[in-house]
Amino acid sequence: MNIHEYQAKAVLKEFGAPVSRGVAIFSAAEAEAAAKELGGPLWVVKSQIHAGGRGKGKFNEAAAGEKGGVRLAKSIEEVKAFAEQMLGNTLVTIQTGPAGKQVNRLYIEDGSDIEKEFYLSILVDRETARISFVVSTEGGMDIEEVAHSTPEKIKSFSVDPATGIMPHHGLTVAKALGLSGALAKQATDVVTKLYTAFVAKDMEMLEVNPLIVTKDGNLKVLDAKVSFDSNSLYRQPAMLALRDETEEDAKEIEASKYDLAYIALDGSIGCMVNGAGLAMATLDIIQLYGESPANFLDVGGGASEEKVTAAFKIITSDPKVKGILVNIFGGIMKCDVIARGVIAAVKTVGLTVPLVVRLEGTNVELGKQIIRESGLNVIPADDLDDAAQKIVKAVKEAV
Ligand code: GDP
Ligand code: MG
Repeated sequence: MNIHEYQAKAVLKEFGAPVSRGVAIFSAAEAEAAAKELGGPLWVVKSQIHAGGRGKGKFNEAAAGEKGGVRLAKSIEEVKAFAEQMLGNTLVTIQTGPAGKQVNRLYIEDGSDIEKEFYLSILVDRETARISFVVSTEGGMDIEEVAHSTPEKIKSFSVDPATGIMPHHGLTVAKALGLSGALAKQATDVVTKLYTAFVAKDMEMLEVNPLIVTKDGNLKVLDAKVSFDSNSLYRQPAMLALRDETEEDAKEIEASKYDLAYIALDGSIGCMVNGAGLAMATLDIIQLYGESPANFLDVGGGASEEKVTAAFKIITSDPKVKGILVNIFGGIMKCDVIARGVIAAVKTVGLTVPLVVRLEGTNVELGKQIIRESGLNVIPADDLDDAAQKIVKAVKEAV
């Protein structure tokens, strides 16, 4: 689960991390009061969307002006004008995809005078099974680009969970960033606070880009992107309360209501599979035959007919879906339950795209019989390979 920058900064502030003062606003009418409260003389008007690259982003609408999603304002009038231009309009950044995201909230922040911009992130590194730090002197820009063209400028290390964060970690960060004296001490302090917040709140990633040195010689968290491990949210009610469903894929929200493991993807073939491994294999084989999956969907081991119906409806509600592949290996999951679920869903939502069904395992004959007798226009398949080829062919013929 992701949260907004202003929420992330509020969480980090609780742990004592240095952030600017700021006010989140939801309408342009609130901009003036926010700007007055902060006092100036420099303000930053920041679009709050769950995506990075806002500064270099562009709005779709001409009314939003030429500037990006993060704007420096030198007067209260300018704060007001930017708020009016940005709110309600669609910001496209390298992370939003071409459709962009509508800006419904702004964060008005006290502007900082920047001396230097660094990069710092904390994440769970699956390879070492530890929490890792990634730091670079090349802050404020796209870290993927830095990693690609000047990888030597990125330093990384992990923290032993037995000791937790230690002063030497802070010094490692300070050294990597070329900081000494009072700033090195501040770096140790900030690193400790960020790490403590990361662990306490079950974060999955905390990215500070940029971490800045201000002109008056202080370290500050100028941007913060935080995501949480979804499996921990049951014990993080305060973090769960920060969830902004308008930022999430509507299909993923619907899927989570039915406890379905669903992730929207960009391709054209909707997939309904049981078991994460089989689902991954299904996505791979679709790619192998030259098409792309529209989603990952694991209906789970013991899915009910109701759950299967919900899953099928979610798939068909996606306008990108040009064909559907149902691939079930019945173990605990019974093939006849899947067949009934699919038929129930088709009866309510209809079927306008080709549907290939591959069933194998428990109650397979009954499942196949139910589908045959339903009168539905289903293309049966014998195995995964056959199923993938058939759905790819059907989708290619349909367009
Ligand atoms: P992002 O583009 O989504 O990563 O948003 P950021 O919060 O990182 O802001 C983008 C850029 O705006 C930063 O890298 C800074 O260069 C600039 N910026 C943000 N806040 C301030 C500020 O308080 N003062 C100044 N001078 N520049 C800022
Ligand atoms: Mg940034």
